[in-house]
Amino acid sequence: MHILQIASEFSPVAKVGGLADVLYGLSKALVKKGHQVEILIPKYDCLLFSQLDDLHILDRNMIVKEGQECYQNTIWTAYFNGLKILFLEPHHPQHYFNRGQIYGCKDDIERFTYFSKAAVEYLISRKNQPEIVHVHDWPTALIPVLYKELYPRFQQKTILTIHNMEHQGKCTSFHLQQLGLGKTNDQLQPSPSSHPINLLKEGIEYADHVTTVSVSYEQEIQTAEGAFGLQETVIKNRHKITGILNGIDEDFWNPEKDPHLVRNYPARPKKDKELKQIIEGKQENKQQLQVHLNLHLSHVPLVACISRLVPQKSPELIQYALERTLAKGGQFVLLGSTCIPSIYETFQNLQTHYQNHKDVSILLDQDESLAHLLFAATDLFIIPSLFEPCGLTQLIALRYSTIPIARMTGGLKDTVFDIDTSSRPFEERNGFTFEFPDTQGVDWALDRALYCYRNDPQKWEILLRNATKKDLSWEQSALEYIKLYSLQLNRL
Ligand code: ADP
Repeated sequence: MHILQIASEFSPVAKVGGLADVLYGLSKALVKKGHQVEILIPKYDCLLFSQLDDLHILDRNMIVKEGQECYQNTIWTAYFNGLKILFLEPHHPQHYFNRGQIYGCKDDIERFTYFSKAAVEYLISRKNQPEIVHVHDWPTALIPVLYKELYPRFQQKTILTIHNMEHQGKCTSFHLQQLGLGKTNDQLQPSPSSHPINLLKEGIEYADHVTTVSVSYEQEIQTAEGAFGLQETVIKNRHKITGILNGIDEDFWNPEKDPHLVRNYPARPKKDKELKQIIEGKQENKQQLQVHLNLHLSHVPLVACISRLVPQKSPELIQYALERTLAKGGQFVLLGSTCIPSIYETFQNLQTHYQNHKDVSILLDQDESLAHLLFAATDLFIIPSLFEPCGLTQLIALRYSTIPIARMTGGLKDTVFDIDTSSRPFEERNGFTFEFPDTQGVDWALDRALYCYRNDPQKWEILLRNATKKDLSWEQSALEYIKLYSLQLNRL
C-alpha cells in the first residue's frame, strides 16, 4: 500500500510532543511491513535540519490560491533514518512557517488551513497518488473535507487520528471561503453564520475512518468531559471510530544502545544476570545525572517527570508530587516546557525557591538528550494527568525499567497496572496507580512507590521484571492500522 501521512509534527526534526513520536514510529513500522510511506509536514524554519539526509527541492512552482491571490510554494524532500519526508514551504507574505516555533501563533488557524489546502493541491498535481491519506489532529483535519468537497474525483481514502480532543481548531466560514470552500455547503456553515466552524468536528464527519490513540480514550471521547463538546459528533460517528494504542519506536528508545546514556543496559532481562545489569546500569546513569544536576550523590529514590506543563498534565499535582517526594526524603527531577506564561512563572518561582536544594532539579526546557538520560537514570516516573489520550512517557519509562506512577485515565489506564490493586495477572502489574487527580491520589500511589523502593527489594525486582515484559513496540498497532487501511481499500 502507498500511504501518505500529513501532520504538523515529526520526530525528531519537528517535535513538540507525542504526536511527533507517533508519526515517526508508526511510519517506520509500516515501512518495515513492506508498505510505501511518505510523510508531509510544513517546512518550519526551526526544523532540526542537521538530522536530515539529502534535503533537496522536488518542485519549485506549486501554486495555491488563497482568497483572490495565488501564492507560490516549494516542495522539498529529505530522508530521516530511511523515511521519506516531504516539506511544504509557502512563499506567502505572512511567512506562515518562519516563526521559530511550531504552534502558538495567533494565526495558527490560517497557517494550518493553508498548509492543508496546499498539501491537497500538491497531492492532486502529482503523478504518483497515495492510496491512503492519513491525517492527524486539528491542524490537518480539513484535508478530508477538501478532498470530498473540492476534489471528489480523487478517490483517496482519508483516515483521521485524534491524538488529543482538547484542541479542535475553531474558525469562521470566511477562513474556509478563502480556501475555496463555498458558502453553500450546509455542513460547513452551521447557523448562525457567525458560529465558529470546528475543524476537528468536520474532520470526524468527513474522514472515511477515525482512530483514537487508545481504546479507553475512544470510550472517553463519547462523554461530555472527554469530548470537549464534540460528544454528539463522536457518538453519531462511532461506527467508524477505532481505538488503536500507540507504540514507541524501540530503536529510538533503547537502553541497550541509547547514545545519551553513560552506561547502556539490557532492555529485557532474560536471566537474573541481566536484571542485575539493569539495576547496575541504572545506578551508574543515576550517579552521572546527580553529578550533572548538582544533586546529592545518594541512593534515595529518584522520581522524574518529563512533561509539557499545561493544565491537561495537572501541573499543580506535579508540583505537589515534587514537594511530597522531598518531604519523604527522595529526590525529584522535573524537565518541563510550557508556552503558558502563568504556569511558566509558577515553575520559575519554584526553580528559584529550590535553586540551592541538593535533592531537586527543575529544568524548564525542551531537551531530548536530557530526557533520554532521565528515563534511564531515575527510579520512578510520575504522570498525574487530568486526561491522557495515550501517553508515551509511561511507555518510554517502562522501556528503561523506570516504574510509572500514573493516574488512571485514557491510555495510562490501558498500559499501567497497579502492583497492589490491579485485577490483571500478577506478571502484567508494572506500576503504581491512582484514581482521582488530587493530592490524596498522589499520596496513595507515590508513598507506596517510595516505600517499595526503599523497603521491599523483592517486590521492586518483580516490578522491574514486569515493566520490561510488556510489548511496547509498534508491531501490533501497525498491524491494526494496516488492517484498517486494507478495509478502506476493500482488500480484506
Ligand atoms: P503529549 O503528546 O501530550 O505531550 P506524550 O506522553 O504523548 O504527551 O508525549 C510526550 C513526548 O514529548 C515524549 O517523547 C516526552 O519524552 C517528550 N517531552 C515532553 N516534554 C519534554 C521536554 N521538556 N523535553 C524533552 N522531551 C519532552
